[in-house]
Amino acid sequence: MQIERLDAAGLGVIADKLEAGERLTFDDGVRLFDCPDLLALGWLANREREKRHERRTYYNFNIRLEATNVCVASCLFCSFARLRPGDSGSYTMSLEETWDKLRERAHQPLTEIHVVNGLHPDLPFDYYLEMLRGFKRIRPSIHLKCFTAVEIAFFADLYKMSDEQVLRELQSAGLDSLPGGGAEIFAERVRRKICHDKCGADRYLEIHKLAHSLGMRTNVTMLYGHIETKEERVDHMLRARALQDDTGGFQAFIPLAFHPDNNQMRKLPAPSATETLRVHAVSRLMLDNIPHVKAFWIATGVEVAQVSLWFGVDDLDGTVQEEKIYHMAGARTPEAMTTSAIRRLIRAAGRDPVERDTLYNVVTGPESPDDAPVLVQ
Ligand code: SF4
Repeated sequence: MQIERLDAAGLGVIADKLEAGERLTFDDGVRLFDCPDLLALGWLANREREKRHERRTYYNFNIRLEATNVCVASCLFCSFARLRPGDSGSYTMSLEETWDKLRERAHQPLTEIHVVNGLHPDLPFDYYLEMLRGFKRIRPSIHLKCFTAVEIAFFADLYKMSDEQVLRELQSAGLDSLPGGGAEIFAERVRRKICHDKCGADRYLEIHKLAHSLGMRTNVTMLYGHIETKEERVDHMLRARALQDDTGGFQAFIPLAFHPDNNQMRKLPAPSATETLRVHAVSRLMLDNIPHVKAFWIATGVEVAQVSLWFGVDDLDGTVQEEKIYHMAGARTPEAMTTSAIRRLIRAAGRDPVERDTLYNVVTGPESPDDAPVLVQ
């Protein structure tokens, strides 16, 4: 891209810093959000993406499981939770039902189960421990990425344990890593308004730090497109970056688009495609120490996810299956994709598909054909 265009977009100094390997500041982050030239911003983010990953775009073969939607918290953006057992639409799966989800996929080369739940006030801790043990009994090699930091904090308070004890016991039962959910926006102003009754930003980050110290890798998310300011987005990114400087344990940063259907913030519009591209691009530029930026295609929509692969994104999550949280909030994306469909959409965007496991070891490289007969039904 021409220097004149970057200068005209107010990005000349930032482009020079990036070229020199210098870290971007808070003010740089705000300037990126203010940049009127989305393509210039995308060009810079793509340059950083290609430095790290060239044409490679990662995905994994996973399933999602939400074992209960009973939840004592009252996050305004949530369309998934039901307050009490017995409320209309509430459900809690038996352990056998959770294990059946894996048994049903015995013929598929899944590498990961991603489990997140509501904060159920009445289930015993053994329910979660047994769930993990059962998954490992059924398929010892499966990677268990389960329970957000918000759930870990809730377990600790409910079962009168420390956060570390909870993590250690879950790890002994088979937990391999934590997903990044529950981060929302770290700024207290926003948390007080949209999710005042679940664990705060400091504890979220402390739990991830503990998980890293126990040898687990984790992800970190950011819910965007509601009442947060651009300054609060940059602050969020910098808090994640600071922890990553300490531990190096985050694998991916995942911006999550707010979806307004069926929740208490339904008067707000969903973020636009251009806003989604901007947030992913700024994430790539600010988070110089987190290896991957992921577009969760269920939330962004498939087409925007494809375009995002030129705006800093190098990962499209996975095949997913039976996603509930976003679909109850109005997502119109499919609930699952075949591995061949995901590979084809990556190729159609001009990138090379690479199936990874949860820890980014390559399972199927770009040289493999895209029509391998592995179907998600
Ligand atoms: S986002 Fe999570 S913690 Fe908040 S109400 Fe929904 S299920 Fe509960």
